[in-house]
Amino acid sequence: SVMEVKLNLCCVFFILTAATVKAQVNPEMCRYPLGMTGGQIQDEDISASSQWSESTAARFGRLDFDTGDGDGAWCPDIMSEPGGFKEYLQVDLRSLHFITLVGTQGRHADGMGNEFAQRYRIKYSRDGSSWVGWHDRMGNQVIEGNKNTYDVVLKDLEPPIVARFVRFMPVIDPSLIVCMRVELYGCEWLDGLVSYSIPDGHQMIYRGLDVFFNDSVYDGATAQRLTKGLGQLTDGTWGLDDFLHSHVPGAWPGYDYVGWSNKTFPKGYVEVVFDFDHIHNFTSMKVHCSNMFSRGVRLFRQATCFFRSESEWEPDPMTFRPSAEPLSQSARFVTVPLGDRTASSIKCRFHFSDQWLLFSEVAFQSGSAVYNTSLGPHKHGQLFSTCSCASSGDDPTHKVDDSNTRILIGCLVAIIAILLTIIVIILWRQVWQKMLEKASRRWLDDELTARLAVQTQAFSFLRFSQSSEDGSGSGSISTYERIYPASADYQEPSRLIRKLPEFAECAEHLGKEGAEGRRAGVGSDGAPHYAEADIISLQESSDSGSITAINTNLFAGSDSTLREFPREKLTFKEKLGEGQFGEVHLCEAEDMQNFLGEDTLMEGSSKSPLLVAVKMLREDANKNARNDFLKEIRIMSRLRDPNIVRLLAVCVDTDPLCMITEYMENGDLNQFLCSLRLKTLTGGEADQQEGSNETISHSVKLLGMAVQIASGMKYLSSLNFVHRDLATRNCLVGKNDTIKIADFGMSRNLYRGDYFRIQGRAVLPIRWMSWESILLGKFTMASDVWAFGVTLWEILTLCKEQPYSQLSDEQVIENTGEFFRNQGKQVYLPQPQCCPDRIYGDLMLSCWRRNAKERPSFQEIHAQLTESR
Ligand code: ADP
Repeated sequence: SVMEVKLNLCCVFFILTAATVKAQVNPEMCRYPLGMTGGQIQDEDISASSQWSESTAARFGRLDFDTGDGDGAWCPDIMSEPGGFKEYLQVDLRSLHFITLVGTQGRHADGMGNEFAQRYRIKYSRDGSSWVGWHDRMGNQVIEGNKNTYDVVLKDLEPPIVARFVRFMPVIDPSLIVCMRVELYGCEWLDGLVSYSIPDGHQMIYRGLDVFFNDSVYDGATAQRLTKGLGQLTDGTWGLDDFLHSHVPGAWPGYDYVGWSNKTFPKGYVEVVFDFDHIHNFTSMKVHCSNMFSRGVRLFRQATCFFRSESEWEPDPMTFRPSAEPLSQSARFVTVPLGDRTASSIKCRFHFSDQWLLFSEVAFQSGSAVYNTSLGPHKHGQLFSTCSCASSGDDPTHKVDDSNTRILIGCLVAIIAILLTIIVIILWRQVWQKMLEKASRRWLDDELTARLAVQTQAFSFLRFSQSSEDGSGSGSISTYERIYPASADYQEPSRLIRKLPEFAECAEHLGKEGAEGRRAGVGSDGAPHYAEADIISLQESSDSGSITAINTNLFAGSDSTLREFPREKLTFKEKLGEGQFGEVHLCEAEDMQNFLGEDTLMEGSSKSPLLVAVKMLREDANKNARNDFLKEIRIMSRLRDPNIVRLLAVCVDTDPLCMITEYMENGDLNQFLCSLRLKTLTGGEADQQEGSNETISHSVKLLGMAVQIASGMKYLSSLNFVHRDLATRNCLVGKNDTIKIADFGMSRNLYRGDYFRIQGRAVLPIRWMSWESILLGKFTMASDVWAFGVTLWEILTLCKEQPYSQLSDEQVIENTGEFFRNQGKQVYLPQPQCCPDRIYGDLMLSCWRRNAKERPSFQEIHAQLTESR
């Protein structure tokens, strides 16, 4: 812990900023448990309208946190309010939070309980006095809850809530006793914005189509103007370029936008007032606008913002005009500089430049916090800029006036606060780790798997690695910090699979077979899976303090050149991304090439210092994630291939644990191809004129990328390693289109119980998985070949869409069922436009052959691709 104090100030700043950034409002990332399960929410902050008995008081309403001294759930006294909706369990989060997900569970009480809430509603409040009933985007208030006493049922809140107080209100049937355990998921709402006030949106008639630009999820008063609420402008959802369409299923045209026609505004502007929880020092405001000028919609011509800290609006507003008229019709964020003005309310007048003004999101950036970092490149700018440590690459609008003494004082206060926070974090972590250990020991005793028996029947084999095989049994109970978004590339298949009529039984039977094989650490193809064969020897010490014990094991038998790198020689440059374990930073590593020794000279390593990517384990990671992180290190330390991302060194002597890998300048392949596509598109006509030549050189380049992935996979398969999560998102792009395979973290988790435990559902990349991986849980080299086929398809479509984008998750599983039935009804991914016939017919389709043995090996794939170039 003392090491932390040694970090240089900017690093400390960064880590704290990172903690803030992590909690930002990007609904996909903002899914952290808020502390019912983990205990961060205190007993006194959990209250209820009534309770059935002392042993079922509100404080027992914590999801999956059976304290043993009560009956392990909150149960209202139904006699007090029969048949009503009035009973509630209330959680006070102590500050405003952005809540994206809720979880509920019934009263299990070690098999004695028989009560759960089949349906419930949610109410919330920001100030504790005015309450709003939550409803989904279609207006439904009632949420389907539990079907038994033990499964955790998670529900995405669409739209998400910004609130401090949340009430769970079970729909009560007088003849039944209802009990609940709950958890809230989200992150802190640092925006400080408590309400905005706007004129209600208008209706457009576009070619006979009614297009509604009202704020359909606004939660305040809706008279002439909408007041005292938040809504679509802060729901974390941005509109598409074409305002007629929306990501939201079943939405009406115009759904994503709030918009106004200039006809009703004789002064030529729309006035929006934003109210904040307290006075902030505002750097900028970002407004997401449509710019479909072919339909009379354009960005605003000018924004004039007034500021108010006390009762009066200050007389000197800030005026901003977006620079030269953009030619593209795509929707975009416009950054309006707010000149570091202090205020608790801001009133902005947005001037029309055409008939219509359409907004879908507004976010603020201020000196005391960073908001909506997903919005753009200014992620770290604010905190740094306040303390004059801004990088020169920042937006010029963020420049700081050094003579400003107010800022100087702010800086000093911030530094003191940071030092205090470090001390608190150190103390807190020690206490927290002790608590975690205690809890995990107790959970183990309880043999928690019983609760999961039902959900995992079809996938019973997925649980075997927990204790017997991966050897970390005692630590594998608790959960990951973030629950993966249901809408992303990873889906939970077990729920969907049960819908395949003939499959449940078969899956169970075959699953057991698979499990037997895996128990012996052998995959069904006879090859050891790295997840079992390689990692199990990692012994876990029950004393989490003894990192050294783990380290000794970690490096026993692994590459001896992998050593601890002195952490103070790392200088933070920028954040590269965020993954399952935490953030990935670009850093300069002083003296790295000397450290690595001569036999490992890296390309460009003659430069000093060397740029490296540092993947850090997030500060609040639990023991389970920590072990997984160490295991990923161990796997990577053994891999050495030009097409596998190279692990250079580690920092594991102190926290935060870091792995230092080579830096891949062009980020992940998925993004890279996206940007390539955009370039091609904006290159537009020129490309078309060039005609087929262009297309040919294009596909040669793309096939070159595929060759490299095949080569990396050939190497992995020569070691009998199964990657299990091959996809463009898990490949990185370096200089000169070099591609390397990364991400050896996620796949191993497929065999662990963690995902089942947290939510009764595993999240798997179903669109990349072979039919036998989804239905039978078989992961082999041949299923990696399947995923390679999908990855190749992604590359040749320039990642324009998700695989099977026209199919829902259910339909993808249904299609998997067709592969299993083999009646010729299965559908394949279509031939991409620039994919040569031979590649599609001879290669891609062969990766998706039903019979795994008939699929080509990576050696064959590599040879075939190399030839065809
Ligand atoms: P996950 O755990 O979700 O699979 P990672 O933690 O590996 O993701 O990485 C998250 C993001 O950080 C990647 O998508 C990529 O954009 C960036 N990144 C990771 N490693 C590197 C690297 N070596 N060089 C450049 N960018 C990287």
